[in-house]
Amino acid sequence: MAISVKINKSTQSRVKDVDFENIQFGTIFSDHMFRVDYEDGVWKDPQILPYGNISLAPSLSALHYGQAIFEGMKAFKNPEGGAQLFRPLDNFKRMNLSAIRMAMPEIPEEIYMQGLKELVKIDQQWIPTKIGSALYIRPFLFATDDFVGVRPSKTFSFIIFTCPVNSYYPKPIKVIVEEKYVRAFEGGVGFAKAAGNYGLSMLPTQEAHKKGFDQIIWTDGREHNFVEESGTTNLFFVVGDTVITPEIDGTILQGITRDSCIKILKNKGYKIEERKISMKEIAEAYDKGLLKDAFGTGTAAIIARIELINYKGKEMILPPVEERLISNLLYDTLGGIYTSTVEDPFGWVVKV
Ligand SMILES: *Cc1c(COP(=O)(O)O)cnc(C)c1O
Repeated sequence: MAISVKINKSTQSRVKDVDFENIQFGTIFSDHMFRVDYEDGVWKDPQILPYGNISLAPSLSALHYGQAIFEGMKAFKNPEGGAQLFRPLDNFKRMNLSAIRMAMPEIPEEIYMQGLKELVKIDQQWIPTKIGSALYIRPFLFATDDFVGVRPSKTFSFIIFTCPVNSYYPKPIKVIVEEKYVRAFEGGVGFAKAAGNYGLSMLPTQEAHKKGFDQIIWTDGREHNFVEESGTTNLFFVVGDTVITPEIDGTILQGITRDSCIKILKNKGYKIEERKISMKEIAEAYDKGLLKDAFGTGTAAIIARIELINYKGKEMILPPVEERLISNLLYDTLGGIYTSTVEDPFGWVVKV
């Protein structure tokens, strides 16, 4: 069912003022945003309007009680100059899984998909074309009741805005295994893209930065033994000729990049295991010279190669990037599928 999106175009595009060669991630916003509000059980007035500030009540419940979720996806240009999205329906489905967990209304597919496609179409001159760059898309849903008290909000706003970006981590990163703080616990909200998951990560990450690391590796909340994620990316290791990644168990975010990497590797005949991985196992593999690759995966970073892992003070140094068969293969294949310069046997690309 098609919905009708009201369009209020900005009078003058800001795209000419952008230096696409030097964009800092997440600082430049395209001309328009999509917005739809939820009230009395219905989604009202889907519209595209100029990107800009919105007015909020000080008592806005999202700000106090954290009923707020988001998504992250990207749009690319194909060689013909057309705009395209990567697995947008998977982002849509995950947004609604997050919504259910946070007692928020699910967004109807036609509103999400149509709002998204029309927004990307209207701002398609904002999609950068340099390798590794893209138009980052941020859909988010938040509680808007002006009410103080802990109960699910009755009103919500859903907004999508976009920003042209270059790659998130241009260089390989240094990580430290976190053994004090926890990101998520069984029964919690680790699998959801809920705002609070990121708020709680800032202090531990700040402490890691002070010690000279770029990111932390989260471990399980019971024993700090099994690895979960690296910052806001899913983790992969290559031990010998086997690729291993933590299984989806409710505490880790079910990344679309993670799923894509698994499917690409299976399709090419590599051995891949989704299971519990202890840091002890990784340290032993390192000592035997079997740790060939380690990297995080996510929409923003794509493939964030790890150059050093600190575990209980022991420093494990990974091989140089040129020798990383798996992460290089994944980076090239994914990057190629995103922009249709590599065949997409999975049907992941959706033209707008
Ligand atoms: C978004 C996110 C990821 C990566 O998910 P993608 O769908 O691949 O972008 C991984 N971990 C966390 C905690 C995230 O928020």
